[in-house]
Amino acid sequence: MFPDARVAVIGAGPAGSFFAHILLIESIRRGLYPIVTIFDSKDFETAGRRNCNMCAGTLSGWLVDELEAEGYRFPHQVVQTHIHGYVVHSRDRQARLAQRPDARIYTVFRGVPFPELTHERGSFDQFLLDHAIAMGARYIRSSVKGIDLPASPGEPIRIRHCQPADSVHEADLVVGAFGVNSPLAKQFLPGYKVPKVWRAFQGEILVGRDLIASRYGDHVHIFLGDGQRIKFLALTPKRFHVTLTAIGPNVKRLDVAARLRESDTAPFLPEDWKFRCHCHPAFPVSSAEKPYGDRVVVIGDACISRYLKNGIESAWYTALFAVQTILDHGFSEADFRAHYFRACRRKYERDNRFGRLIFGLNDLFCRLPILANAHIEAVRHEQAFERPKDRRHSQVLWDVFTGDRSYARIFLSCCHPMLHARTGWETARELWRRLRNGMGRP
Ligand SMILES: Cc1cc2nc3c(=O)[nH]c(=O)nc-3n(C[C@H](O)[C@H](O)[C@H](O)COP(=O)(O)OP(=O)(O)OC[C@H]3O[C@@H](n4cnc5c(N)ncnc54)[C@H](O)[C@@H]3O)c2cc1C
Repeated sequence: MFPDARVAVIGAGPAGSFFAHILLIESIRRGLYPIVTIFDSKDFETAGRRNCNMCAGTLSGWLVDELEAEGYRFPHQVVQTHIHGYVVHSRDRQARLAQRPDARIYTVFRGVPFPELTHERGSFDQFLLDHAIAMGARYIRSSVKGIDLPASPGEPIRIRHCQPADSVHEADLVVGAFGVNSPLAKQFLPGYKVPKVWRAFQGEILVGRDLIASRYGDHVHIFLGDGQRIKFLALTPKRFHVTLTAIGPNVKRLDVAARLRESDTAPFLPEDWKFRCHCHPAFPVSSAEKPYGDRVVVIGDACISRYLKNGIESAWYTALFAVQTILDHGFSEADFRAHYFRACRRKYERDNRFGRLIFGLNDLFCRLPILANAHIEAVRHEQAFERPKDRRHSQVLWDVFTGDRSYARIFLSCCHPMLHARTGWETARELWRRLRNGMGRP
């Protein structure tokens, strides 16, 4: 890269801000001074769905450590809660997974939750953007309409954006960090195809501190869905409210409301609860086609992500791989194909296949409550009687929830004969219990 290259980043979500941060730090180390400009139309400090990047906001311990090592200092307002474990619920059982001593899990909010809580400003995306600005990036609050690729290699790429109307910005390199919820994705670059997506449901419910303290504690609660419309549902406690996330191919509000009336979920909400805001964000379930061109690269969700997990961490890695390619090899189409996209695929594509198998088990548990209960009983037994290193069911669930280990390694743990022996034993006991109580009743 030449010393004062003009770099335009489209999108100030995690991928865009991480990219600006890593590029500026690494460039300075090499005596390069690129001019980095980030575009986004959102105001992360103003309440409302339009200004929020829609996510459950759980940060894995690994990512928190990595960001702190990179110089990010999380202020009190940004960290909503410190999570100390998970509670997994089948329809009539539950088991608690306590935090491992070395694990640190934070919850954050991507925008500002509610207008009446603006004194609680602490948007995670604003925090990342401020960090990039402090490193030297420029920020233009404007939506990008499209890019015009130059006819000859020496000319700049023209970025058409809206504020002020019909403005044009010139750059030598363009980074698309616009996620999968943007109309821009469809016409960004010739040959580029946005990943396939599912549409989740995300809702914020004001429940108050008392209910959070008495019901949730500092645990995320995970509930089984029906296996088709809703795969699973998570209630994540924040400071004053709870974030509800329902994952499935196309989750509807009515399905979520029905699931929340059931006896296992209902006690977690006040009687007169309502969604203070809700949305149907898309998230990727495959990788993009050709997320690069000459002097153009696409990162974050718009390129590839870990299957149903840790999208913010994937944003970090794709940003890192893009910077490494630009600084170590160059930014031609061939460089991005050979180095950037290959690194992304090596990290995620194969592992995501194991992820799909593991989440297939979740579907099985949704359909066969006997198996789900047996699994929960196995976790409870381990928590009560086994040494931590022998708690195989708990370990598998912990790794799936936190994303601390690759899906391939989790899958390997699932193959351990002792795990199957315990599942078999607990399934037999569950069957016996049901026979004794009259079939069908737990
Ligand atoms: C329901 C749900 C729950 C999730 N929970 C978690 C979780 O708990 N933990 C986790 O790690 N991940 C989670 N994720 C995934 C995570 O939200 C994403 O992986 C992550 O936000 C991707 O970052 P990004 O920067 O690539 O895209 P985004 O966060 O989508 O950011 C894209 C940015 O680009 C901007 N933009 C778009 N178009 C334009 C344009 N034309 N001009 C200018 N700017 C533009 C947008 O305004 C936005 O700010 C969740 C996702 C969903 C859907």
